[in-house]
Order: sequence, then C-alpha cells, then structure tokens
Amino acid sequence: MPNTKYIFVTGGVTSSLGKGIIAASLAKLLQSSGFSVTIQKLDPYINVDPGTLNPYEHGECFVTNDGAETDLDLGHYERFLNIPTSQANNVTTGKIYQTVINKERRGDYLGKTVQIIPHITDEIKRRIKILGETGDYDIVITEIGGTVGDIESLPYIEAVRQLQWDLGDSNAIVIHLTLVPYLAAAKELKTKPTQHSVKELMQSGVSPDILVCRTEHHLNDSIKSKLALFCNVKKEAIIESIDAKTIYDVPNLMLKEGLDKVVLKKLDLTTDKKPTLEAWNKFLVKYNNPKDTIEIGLVGKYVELQDAYKSIIESLGHAGAQNEVKVNIHAIHSENLNTNVATELNGLNGIIVAPGFGDRGIEGKINAVHFARENNIPFFGICLGMQMAVIEFARNILHLKNANSTEMNVNTPYPVIDLMEEQKKITEKGGTMRLGAWNCKIEKNSKVYQAYNSELISERHRHRYEFNNDYLKQLTEAGLKATGVNPETGLVEIIEIPSHPWFVGVQYHPEYKSTVLNPHPLFVEFIKACLTNK
Ligand code: GLN
Repeated sequence: MPNTKYIFVTGGVTSSLGKGIIAASLAKLLQSSGFSVTIQKLDPYINVDPGTLNPYEHGECFVTNDGAETDLDLGHYERFLNIPTSQANNVTTGKIYQTVINKERRGDYLGKTVQIIPHITDEIKRRIKILGETGDYDIVITEIGGTVGDIESLPYIEAVRQLQWDLGDSNAIVIHLTLVPYLAAAKELKTKPTQHSVKELMQSGVSPDILVCRTEHHLNDSIKSKLALFCNVKKEAIIESIDAKTIYDVPNLMLKEGLDKVVLKKLDLTTDKKPTLEAWNKFLVKYNNPKDTIEIGLVGKYVELQDAYKSIIESLGHAGAQNEVKVNIHAIHSENLNTNVATELNGLNGIIVAPGFGDRGIEGKINAVHFARENNIPFFGICLGMQMAVIEFARNILHLKNANSTEMNVNTPYPVIDLMEEQKKITEKGGTMRLGAWNCKIEKNSKVYQAYNSELISERHRHRYEFNNDYLKQLTEAGLKATGVNPETGLVEIIEIPSHPWFVGVQYHPEYKSTVLNPHPLFVEFIKACLTNK
C-alpha cells in the first residue's frame, strides 16, 4: 500500500486562473495541519526546461537549489510552503520524451513499438511518483499545466486516470479549477463553461472530486447545487474562490471554504491539528497595515510583463511587510532611459537593476546605476544588475572608456565582466549556465554581513558571465569592494561601494530564496536603507 497520497490539480475554461496559487494555498493548509507536503508542476510544452524561454513566453524562470531551471509556479510553492523544491518538482513534455527516446536508443524497449500509451504515460507516472517514493511527503500535489482540452496535455490526463486506477480512490484525487463568469448584462453567474470543462475531463475518463470555482461574485446555494448536479461533484466539494486582494489571502479564503477539510475527507486522512496559519497571519497583518510608503524603481527590459520579475516583486512585498512599509514598485523600461534619466528616476527612494540577458536596454541600466551612485540613492543590482554596476564604475570612476561585458561586446577594450572559464568550451545553450546554489564567503566589514549576520552563505545562481578578477585591484583601490567571494573558485559574488549609503550588487539571485515566513535579509536591508534615506 502506498503511504503517500496524491492530489492532482487541473484547470478548465481558461488559462491564468491561478492553479499554482490554489495548489500552494491548499498545500499551506495541509502543511499547517501537520502533514508534510510538496508540490510538483507538469508542463506540457516540449522544451526540456524553461531555461531557454524568453520571459515573454512564460514569465520568470525560477531556479532551485539543485540547479533546475523551472516554471515560476515553483517560486510560489517555495514562498508559501517555506521548503525548497528540486529537479523532481518540475517535469516537462520535453523531459518525458527525452527520457523515453534515450531509453529507446539504448535498447531498453528492444523489439517493441514505443507509443504514447504505455511508454510516455508510464514515464509521466514514474515522474509523478518520484517525490512520493522519497518517503519525505505525506501528500504530493501535482499541478498539471495548461487547460483541459489542450492536445498537448492529453497524455498527462491519461496518466492521472491510470494513477487513480492504480492507487485507488482515497489515494489519488483530482481538483479541477474552473471559471464561473459573471455576465453583467444578464446580472448572472454562468455555470455552463464549467459544465463543459468537466465534460471534457470526463471524456478522458477523469471525474473531478472537487471543483474550485474562480469567480468575481459569491456563488449562491443554487449555483452550487447546479454545479454539483451537472458536474457529478458533491455540493460540499464545490469550493468558491473569489478574487482576492493579494495571493497571500488565498490560504485563508480556502480555509474558510473548507477546501482542506474536503480534501482530507476524500483522502481518508485524519488529524487533530487545526490549520491555524498563525505565523502566516502575522505576516498578513504587517503586509496589510503599513506605517509608511516607499517608492522603488525596478529597471528592466521586461517591465511591462507582470510575471517577468515575479520573485523580485514578491521579495519586495515580503521585505516591505517585515519593515512595515508599503513598497510601491515603479516599472522602468531600461530601453527608455537615455537623456531623461533624472526625470524618469526622480523621487525614487531606491533603485533595483534587474537580471537579464543580451544587450537590449543595457545602456539604460548603466544610466540607472550611474544616477543611483551619484545621488546616493540605495541601489540593489541583481545578477546582470550587478554586472552593470561594475561596468558603470569602470567607465565613470576608472575612466576605462567602453568598458563592458563580453556578453554585450566581445571586442571591448576593458572586459570587466567576462565569460567564466568553465563556460568557454560550452556550445549548447540548454541547462549549461552556472546554476543552483553556491557558497559565498562574506567579509565581516560590509553591508551584506550586516544583513546576513553570517560569514558563509549559499545562494542560487543563473549566469555565464562573471566579474573579471584582472580588474579587482583597480576597482578596489577606487572604492568598489568585492565583499563576497566563492571560497573554492575565487569568483566575486558581491560588490559594494562602502562610501555610498547602500550600494550592493550580487551575482546571484536572492529573490529565489525569499519566502513569506523568511523574507530575504538583503531585500529587508535594502528596504530599510530606502526608508532611512527617504
Ligand atoms: N547575462 C548575464 C550572464 O549570463 C546575467 C544573467 C542574469 O542576470 N541572470 O552572466
């Protein structure tokens, strides 16, 4: 008998209903009832991972400790559950096919025709069960990307059908997230799209155990009865998910609706522990009752996309709550930062220069650094943002004309940022960056030490280029210090300008480690500095 219980979350009617947030909120409730829970995302696209995708396609690429480049939903899972995810938490169709085709070439299926059923579905099932088989989790929640009815998600739905059959009713349940739209002209909520979506799911042999219905208006009793009758779902298992002010309200809304109770009942699980969400609600009180406001400029080239810098935006929210201050984020397009820098950045209490790849908009990023440095505005450079800070300093303080990163200009006379040695022989783009968690040794007399209060830290990376140590001496003497270095390789991970109120650049991505219960210390200190310098 399996010990681990499985919950599948599918989506119907439209995309962008927030399956990730519902999965994370449910997981939070189950976790605070004493169960150990993890969440996995299955993505039906053929890319092996989202590392090669442009943020315009799927938003931010999230990175795990073990170096997986993953879907941004994993960021929500970590922020809600406060436990790290891993390679096994994100599976794509690309990964499934790659494994099956490699096995075929090896001869593992010798003599057999390799087919979607059973070979692809078996591999999907294997990937779903990997987390359960670690023995670490009572419950594994698997979110299936896309919308029911998509051609590309069919093998996943079939794998769910088979798993329910293999594992038995109370060991694997399906939650279907749908939309109940409100027709303003008719002044009515409409159930038909949900009915159709459930029908679609049933045609694939899967009956939802629970419906979570996204809605702008409360579902009344008759709507719930109608949905129950036509969708073959018990009325108590029709859960309203009304629009929330913030994603962090959703666990409380789901608790009120009793989603966790229905889930435990269906899974035949009992517990004496009530999900109190104590620490979570302490965060919410601070988050919702700020004593002050600060204005932060986020300079990047994808700022028109709300998902491109998801983890940075959430980290600012966590750090704001910790400081009891509301953080207003101003999206500043780096391509538009030319001669107008002072007007565009006027009135900001702090400036972040975002991560990124390629040369589009980088001169604007350098201009933003220049403005923050010269005007003593707290500055936080993340990955590419840190690299831009080094370039700005080299150009304007060391007067190294046309100093650059070799990513932007291979022929720069002063390659202050250069391709890492181990990257020089790499030709394939997928999964070949310096990825995942690496150690960094921090100098005691620094702003970052004040934040971390520790000399050895571990942070997640995703880059190919790096501070060029040939310029370390020159830069240090001129006032830009390397305050954090990888102890094994000597790679510079952190730079600071000690004479500036708060000027920190990090080669890594602190935003991947900020959670509701553990706001990231660098974001917390940055916000504190912005407040002090207001
Ligand atoms: N493009 C830079 C590099 O590869 C920075 C990457 C990033 O910001 N994540 O080093």
